Amino acid sequence: MNEVASQVEAPAGVNLPIYMDNQATSPLDPRVLEAMMPYLTSKFGNAASRNHSFGWEAEKAVDTAREQVAKLIGATAKEIVFTSGATESDNLAIKGIAEMYRERGNHIVTQVTEHKAVLDTCKRLEKYGYRVTYLPVKADGVIDLEDLKRAIDEKTILVTIMAANNEIGVLQPIREIGWLCHEKGVLFHSDAVQAIGKAPFHVIDDYVDVASISAHKIYGPKGVGALYVRRRNPRVQIAAQIDGGGHERGMRSGTLNVPGIVGLGKACEIALAEMDTEAAYLRGLRDRLEARIEADLDFVHVNGSMEHRLPGNLNMSFLYVEGESLLMGINDVAVSSGSACTSATLEPSYVLKALGLGDDVAHSSIRFGLGRFNTEAEVDYVAARVVSIVRHLRELSPLYEMVKEGIDLTKVEWQAH
Ligand SMILES: *Cc1c(COP(=O)(O)O)cnc(C)c1O
Repeated sequence: MNEVASQVEAPAGVNLPIYMDNQATSPLDPRVLEAMMPYLTSKFGNAASRNHSFGWEAEKAVDTAREQVAKLIGATAKEIVFTSGATESDNLAIKGIAEMYRERGNHIVTQVTEHKAVLDTCKRLEKYGYRVTYLPVKADGVIDLEDLKRAIDEKTILVTIMAANNEIGVLQPIREIGWLCHEKGVLFHSDAVQAIGKAPFHVIDDYVDVASISAHKIYGPKGVGALYVRRRNPRVQIAAQIDGGGHERGMRSGTLNVPGIVGLGKACEIALAEMDTEAAYLRGLRDRLEARIEADLDFVHVNGSMEHRLPGNLNMSFLYVEGESLLMGINDVAVSSGSACTSATLEPSYVLKALGLGDDVAHSSIRFGLGRFNTEAEVDYVAARVVSIVRHLRELSPLYEMVKEGIDLTKVEWQAH
C-alpha cells in the first residue's frame, strides 16, 4: 500500500505529517505562547496572594483573561469561572445545577450526540435518582425542537445541548433552544467548546445560562477551560464540586493556572478579532477538499448537515472501503476515523450511528478537522492522497465491483460458509 501511497508526492512547501484533526485539539498559536511565557517564568505569582506584587501581577493577568473570555461570548468578567478544561466545566455545570436545584425538580434533557463529558455526567446523575431524557437527532444531526418542547415537564430543571458537535461539526439551533428554555423557566447549559470563535455564540442573544469552554480547541493550551455562569435574569447558582480555598467565588477551589488562563484569554482575544476572516478561510478550504474528493470518487457521503455546520469540519464516509485500511493508507495525514474515535473499542462512533448510519458506513468515515494553520496546498495533497488510496482499496473490493456492475447488494443472498 505504501507503494501506491507514495505515487502522490508532497509538493514543495508541504511538510509531512499534515495535521488535520483540529476538532481533537489544535496547535498552540505562537501569539498565545508569547503571552503565556512571562507567567511560566518570572511572573510566577499566585493570583490569590494579596500581600505582594507577585500576587497582584498574577491577579491582574487573570482579570485581563477573564475580560477576554467574557467578551468573546457576550458575558461579563464576573460570570467566568476558570476550570481545568471543558470536561470539568460540563461536570460542574450539570452536577452543580442538579444539586442546587434538586428541590425544584430532578429532570434533565440532553441529546444523543453530546460529548461523553455531558453524556456520562448525565448517566451518573441517573444513578443518583435523576431522570434524563436523551433526545434523538434527525438524519442531518440536528435535534427536532418539537421533541424538546414535548420533553420539558414540570420537573425539568436543566436542558443541556451542545452548540457544535465535535465529530460532525453540526450546529444545533442554540437560539431557539435558549428561547424555549427561557420561556419555560428551565436553565439552559451549552457545551460551546467547538463553536466559540468559529460560529456565532452569544450568551445574551442566544439565551444561554451556562456554557462550557476549552482552551485547546481554539489554539490555546491544554488543561484549562472556563464555565460561563449567568449572574442576572436569571441568576444561576451552581453547587461547587471541588471544595477548598473558595477560589472563583466559591464555585471552583484550587490555585489558578495563571499561565494557562492567560493563554485561554489570549486565544479568545485572537478568536474574536479573526473569527469572520478565519471562518471564510476555513470554509473555502473545507469546500475545496470536499469538491476535489467528490470530483474523483463515487460513493462518498457527507455525514451531517452541510448547512448547519462548523466551517472547518468535513466528515465523510467512503463506501466499500474499510476505515482502518484507509487511515493506514494516509498515515502522513493526521485525521480521525468513525471507528477509532472512542479509543480502543472497535465500536463505530455513536454520533454517526445516531444519524442512522449503518456500521459499515460509520466504519468507513473520516473526520477532516481543518484549522487556522492549514493551507490550500495541504488540502490539495490530502485530497489526492485520499483519492489514490480509496481507488486502490476499491480495486481490491468485490463489493465495489458488484455495485459498479449494477448489482443491488441489498438483494444479494449471501451464502453462509
Ligand atoms: C474537547 C471537547 C470537550 C472536552 O474538553 P477538554 O478541555 O478536553 O476536557 C468537551 N466537549 C466537546 C464538544 C469537546 O470537543
